[in-house]
Amino acid sequence: MNAPLKCWAAALVALSLSSVGWSASADQQKPKVTILATGGTIAGAAATGTQSGYTSGAVTIDAMLAAVPGIDKVATVKGEQVANVGSQDMSFDVLLKLAKRINEIAPGSDVNGIVITHGTDTMEESAYFLNLTVKTDKPVVMVGSMRPSTAVSADGPLNLYNAVGVAADPRAKGRGVMVVMNDQIHAAHSLTKTSTTAVETFMSPGRGLIGVASYGKNDFYSSPTWKHTTQSEFDISKVTKLPRVDIVFADVDMPADLIDASVAAGAKGIVIAGVGNGNMNKASVDAAAKAAKSGVIVVRSSRVPTGLVGRNVELDDDKLGFVASYELNPQKARVLLALALLQKRSLADIQKLYDLY
Ligand code: ASP
Repeated sequence: MNAPLKCWAAALVALSLSSVGWSASADQQKPKVTILATGGTIAGAAATGTQSGYTSGAVTIDAMLAAVPGIDKVATVKGEQVANVGSQDMSFDVLLKLAKRINEIAPGSDVNGIVITHGTDTMEESAYFLNLTVKTDKPVVMVGSMRPSTAVSADGPLNLYNAVGVAADPRAKGRGVMVVMNDQIHAAHSLTKTSTTAVETFMSPGRGLIGVASYGKNDFYSSPTWKHTTQSEFDISKVTKLPRVDIVFADVDMPADLIDASVAAGAKGIVIAGVGNGNMNKASVDAAAKAAKSGVIVVRSSRVPTGLVGRNVELDDDKLGFVASYELNPQKARVLLALALLQKRSLADIQKLYDLY
């Protein structure tokens, strides 16, 4: 081949490789993201695209990835199935397994970020649990969907694309566990599910978003100020079971014997999903004070979605022996208490945890 012809042939090869978006060095430089799948609606399937009934956790991670065109351009993605359940069936046993698996793979040079697919029902407490128990600065991103994979306008594929985009982004490092859905990036501490059906279900009412994610392009607004991941004191490496902590829901004329029943069933801690600023009726205050006296840790949280539950507001926590959950809703206050109870701590020390985490 003469010289000009050789040049042209080389240019043609380079052009055709770049037009399919691939080159050996670009492929090596691509971030590496591991997806740990646990089920949920994102892995859900229905018989038709418009039916509201479906089965959560029916589709495998490989099938989910196959439904996201272009994801391989964002990162080299590898999937692992850890569980396949609707998140109403998520358990501390699976969460412990998940946290341990993350702690095992995160240090590897073949992992730049981790994505966890998960149902939305209990995603907020799972995100918070992982936020306190995984020991890495690398991005850990949870993602789900509100519509099953078979639905008209399924939201899962784009959510997954954006989640991988955040996990692959070095700017996402050190922000704790995040949830990416509906183009939004939430911090584990502050997000909560607000709609049973809408795709914009997650909101962070007290603190706002930490960023946005759009077709793999991210913008970060802030970092959570609470302690998490590498700064967290909770070590679950040898933990196989969490102590029982119950949530008791307060409402008008609530029966106080719900608290007695919890204690009798062996709860080591009780979180009150209180009315208003963590309140409950007089009979329940008496039952909770009795429980606290017997050594059960009672944390007052609130069923109200925003605001703080402060100490000694309408109830004298100092006298009654209660803990105030500050900004944590009941489901997250329960997670923190279960982890706190893994070792002996004073009431004051437990109260301090609600300040820091
Ligand atoms: N029940 C489902 C789950 O949490 C709902 C969802 O994923 O949106 O797994």
